[in-house]
Amino acid sequence: MMTVETAAQAAYIVAALLFILALAGLSKHETARAGNSFGIAGMAVALAATVALAIAGDISTTGLILLAAATLIGAAIGLHRAGRVEMTGMPELIALLHSFVGLAAVLVGWNGYLHVEAHPDGAEAALLNAQDMLGIHSAEVVIGVFIGAVTFTGSIVAFLKLSARIKSSPLMLPGKNALNVGALAAFAVLTAWFVITPRLWLLIVVTVIALLLGWHLVASIGGGDMPVVVSMLNSYSGWAAAAAGFLLENDLLIVTGALVGSSGAYLSYIMCKAMNRSFLSVIAGGFGIEAGPADAKDYGEHREINAEGVAELLTTADSVVITPGYGMAVAQAQHGVAELTRVLRERGVRVRFGIHPVAGRLPGHMNVLLAEARVPYDIVLEMDEINDDFSGTSVVLVIGANDTVNPAATDDPTSPIAGMPVLTVWEADQVIVFKRSMASGYAGVQNPLFFRENCAMLFGDAKERVDDILRAVTAVTPAAMHR
Ligand code: NDP
Repeated sequence: MMTVETAAQAAYIVAALLFILALAGLSKHETARAGNSFGIAGMAVALAATVALAIAGDISTTGLILLAAATLIGAAIGLHRAGRVEMTGMPELIALLHSFVGLAAVLVGWNGYLHVEAHPDGAEAALLNAQDMLGIHSAEVVIGVFIGAVTFTGSIVAFLKLSARIKSSPLMLPGKNALNVGALAAFAVLTAWFVITPRLWLLIVVTVIALLLGWHLVASIGGGDMPVVVSMLNSYSGWAAAAAGFLLENDLLIVTGALVGSSGAYLSYIMCKAMNRSFLSVIAGGFGIEAGPADAKDYGEHREINAEGVAELLTTADSVVITPGYGMAVAQAQHGVAELTRVLRERGVRVRFGIHPVAGRLPGHMNVLLAEARVPYDIVLEMDEINDDFSGTSVVLVIGANDTVNPAATDDPTSPIAGMPVLTVWEADQVIVFKRSMASGYAGVQNPLFFRENCAMLFGDAKERVDDILRAVTAVTPAAMHR
């Protein structure tokens, strides 16, 4: 028994190290695959050690059967979902998975209460009392339930918004900041109360407040700010897991939760900087802005162009910048885009990519797609690296991007995306926007770029249009091409 415990503790340390290596690996394109393998290996070690501990401990046969059944059912659902999910559906799947972590933390917290505080004369309560640890246990219960419940409902709202099952515009309840602060203050008071006298009704009230707070925090955040919310919920789910780890006295869960919690918080910080939002106001929730009057403005007429017209522009261009967005992912146009890039480069045109930090629906979404299509890394530039170069660019191809190239962010203070740094594509000689209609992007705001004089719309599915351009470009003999 003792040896299994010691071996399991050693396995936990190995798993924790593998998780750290996974995070380090995932931070760079070149090592991401290895990082993923480290994560899988760490999780396999952790699962094996936990099951071995359960078998060596006093788990009943029913408990063991339930454990096996839960593992098998969970693995089957996970494999099925992961096999079917589209890259564009990834963010909502991640949001849903965060909600499970939150729910698990709530259940672990309630389980802790039902085993200990609900039976003040029972053996477990007596043992904790003798060690003077009962108050700490009660605090762990209430804090774990609170973080878990906020993560649970917050992630469900994020899932509903990301999958367009509910509107992505912010919910603007009167006095929303007071509501959030009030909920936090009530939580602090109720926690102290529960530690002194652990009553059932107190835990019920904390659970309800946290469920409502999680819902409200995410519901009051506007569409364009969702990327920050997703990484913030990632962080919350880590802290929820760490809280469950304290209750279950599982060191690995505490370490893993802290790793997820702090890396998620750091990612939120980076995203906030990229989106020009204050990190503190994100944590406080409700930093989305109500839709302003920008949508109602009349920007005039837009101009259209066809694939042959774009091919002609490209073949006479000196330099081309491609700024992809969510539409490229939907259309799966990355392979055609990579081929077009190759053909143009072969013919002496300077082609580069400009990647906005929140283009698509996941941090790094566009980089993943371009890497998949084997676009060389050295021509894929970050927004800050490319923004100064647009004024010297002949043609910009905006492929399925919208919010990330919206000039209203820089020149309309009433716009819901005001202040968000964007790719300044309009500074180029010509801008071609690939999309299917004049519909708005994720943030739901009209884009004045489409009505600028140097901008033309190429309507249709991005993949089909890129293929049309490719055909038109390759039909032109190389010699006749570059000036
Ligand atoms: P947007 O979501 O602003 O716009 C995408 C555009 O692609 C739409 O206007 C749509 O227009 C067009 N489109 C869709 N399907 C196709 C298709 N098959 N062919 C051609 N065009 C298509 O994209 P951006 O990448 O510019 O901006 C990302 C937005 O998502 C930002 O607001 C960001 O805040 C948000 N977000 C980002 C996350 C992240 O982590 N990166 C996470 C959550 C949200 P049409 O329908 O007319 O074709």
